[in-house]
Amino acid sequence: MNKHLNQLIKIANLDKEIDSFEPRIQEAKKELDILLEQEEQINSEIESLQGVAKDISLAIGKNENHLHELSTKLEEIAKKIKLIKTEKEHKALNLEEELAKEQITFANEEIARLNVLLESKKDAINVLKEKIENNKKEQQAIETKVQGEVEKVKAEQKEVFSQKEKLVIKMDQKIISFYEKIRKWAKNTSVVSISRQACGGCFMRINDKVYSDVIRSDDIITCPHCGRILYNQEETA
Ligand SMILES: [Zn+2]
Repeated sequence: MNKHLNQLIKIANLDKEIDSFEPRIQEAKKELDILLEQEEQINSEIESLQGVAKDISLAIGKNENHLHELSTKLEEIAKKIKLIKTEKEHKALNLEEELAKEQITFANEEIARLNVLLESKKDAINVLKEKIENNKKEQQAIETKVQGEVEKVKAEQKEVFSQKEKLVIKMDQKIISFYEKIRKWAKNTSVVSISRQACGGCFMRINDKVYSDVIRSDDIITCPHCGRILYNQEETA
């Protein structure tokens, strides 16, 4: 087989190997990504609970202000009661007093109810914060593991890169740049074998002339249909 084609097949195989490293790194990081996603979700749950808790606190504050106003009102009524002269005025103030007391009872009940609600939200937030803590611990453990794997993959990657570099230096630079152009669109199917006289990239039939060129010629032959570089499978095997 012609020397240039042989080198190109080797380069194409090294490129395939180089491309396989990134998915391996991603695979190693997958577990970590899941944990990061979970962390984000828990954090947004905490945020929304904190929003609810804040609203409850505001409602408690409003009720407390109301209570304060009501007790001032009761004091005023008590002062007025001392000064009144008629039975009619007395009745009216008594009614006002009763109403204020009712409102105080209601506000106190409301504050108690809101406090119970607030506590339950705070408990829920604490549970979620604990979850975050555990998630972070898991993340740390996995990060260490991932780091080890990534380093291993990177070392292999470096080795393959240097193999490619050594080979590229020895090759005809025109052929290499021709191959790189095809690789831009054909990626890992830039150099393909012919099987049953069909291109291994686009699967179209190769005519007899091109087919015999691939088998006999010392030139780099491309598929007339798709432009990928062709080689004869049987010959390399
Ligand atoms: Zn083709």
